[in-house]
Order: sequence, then C-alpha cells, then structure tokens
Amino acid sequence: MRMVVTGVPGVGKTSVMEGVAKEKGLAIVNYGTVMFEVARAEGLVENRDQIRKLPVEVQRVVQEKAAQKIYEVGDVIIDTHCTIKTIGGYYPGLPEWVLRKLKPHRILLVEATKEEIAKRRGKDESRTRDKETNEEIEEHQMMNRYAAMAYSMLSGASIKIVFNHDGGLEAAIKEVLKVF
Ligand code: AMP
Ligand code: MG
Repeated sequence: MRMVVTGVPGVGKTSVMEGVAKEKGLAIVNYGTVMFEVARAEGLVENRDQIRKLPVEVQRVVQEKAAQKIYEVGDVIIDTHCTIKTIGGYYPGLPEWVLRKLKPHRILLVEATKEEIAKRRGKDESRTRDKETNEEIEEHQMMNRYAAMAYSMLSGASIKIVFNHDGGLEAAIKEVLKVF
C-alpha cells in the first residue's frame, strides 16, 4: 500500500509516521528529500528549505521527477505535504500529474491545534521555518483539507484525519493503524 502522510510543518507527522512504519514494517520515503536530491544534483539548491523558494515552474519539474522515483519504491509511507507555501501562494503537493505517477491508496492528514503547532515550531532549530501567525497556520491546515479532497476525487484514495495533540502521539499512531 502507498500511504501519503501530510501535515503542516511542525505538526509532528514524521513522529506519527515512524510509529506506523515500525508497526507495519513499511519504509518511509520523504518526498522533500527526494526532491532535494533531484534539485541539488541539478545545482538548484543547497538545502531543503530553498526548494519552496524556487520558481513554481521549476518546482513542478523537480516534483514530477520525484513522483516517478517514489512510485518505483513500491509499498511505502510517503512523507509529504498537501500544499506548500511558496512565494507564488499555495502550491499543490499532489497535483494531477503527480497523482497519475504516484497512485496513492490512502491520504492521511495529521493535524493539531494552531497553538500546539506554533509552540512545536518554536522548539525546532534544525529547520528554517517561515514565521506564521496562528491564523495563518489555521488557514494552511484548512487549505490542506480542501486539497486532500480534490486529490481523493482524482485518484480514488481515501482520506483520514488524525489528531496529534500534545501527549497524544501514541493515540494518533493507533488511529492510523486502523487504516490497514
Ligand atoms: P519537508 O522536510 O517535508 O518540509 O520537505 C522539504 C521541502 O520539500 C518542502 O518545504 C517543499 O519545498 C518540498 N516538498 C515536499 N513534498 C512536496 C511535494 N509533494 N510537492 C512539492 N514540493 C514538496
Ligand atoms: Mg517532517
């Protein structure tokens, strides 16, 4: 099964996914990492937080190449985003040309409250996170839901929303495991 896991930066989707992958013996592929490898090989970026600053037309080419590489992995959990906040506005993580290559079976949305997300972002010094107000975080989560529904309509993948609230990581993992 190819399961796409999405969530705004800082929501803790990687932690949820790692718990699920361990239980199910599945590999995780990070879409951003594959895009970064493609973009770096072409001399376009030096770190992963520069990808979303590239012209969207360039992001699209890199994104499509990544979709093909990830499909070839087979059964896998895919760590990615429903929408990416670019300079050009919200950019779809799984537009039609990506879905056609990736063929996902499930789409998971990991969510938390805007306050929880803001607090978690403040603690992560490993990344260049963009500064966002709580209202912007909420809008981003909302846009991700709308985008997920469109992806479902195009691909036939089902959608599940799972909450990763403070102290609720184990509960979130348990909830995702029901999907298998
Ligand atoms: P992440 O570590 O998950 O934040 O991913 C790093 C970067 O990869 C993101 O900021 C995006 O620029 C890019 N990225 C990840 N997934 C996708 C996708 N499905 N479509 C386009 N860009 C993506
Ligand atoms: Mg992550």
